[in-house]
Amino acid sequence: MLRYEIILPPETEAKLTICAEEAEGLTMREIRCPYCGFVITRVFSDVSGHYLARCRKCKHESVLNFAYFRRQKGFGKKRQRFRDDLNFR
Ligand SMILES: [Zn+2]
Repeated sequence: MLRYEIILPPETEAKLTICAEEAEGLTMREIRCPYCGFVITRVFSDVSGHYLARCRKCKHESVLNFAYFRRQKGFGKKRQRFRDDLNFR
């Protein structure tokens, strides 16, 4: 079955819309595997807590606390735009 043929319940659709709206204006960063540097996932700037990360490349599984993995790389452009927005206000 193709992804776009799946009909979601209205409440799930509504939640997705709200999530997308909330994520606007947030910056994103990459979470990389501590062992091999492979990008495991991308998270928004308001993320917090612990995450069980499974690396698809080296298969290591590690618990990451987002607070300790704040390195931002490759999002300079987006971040700059976010800062420009802040300066406008
Ligand atoms: Zn890895």
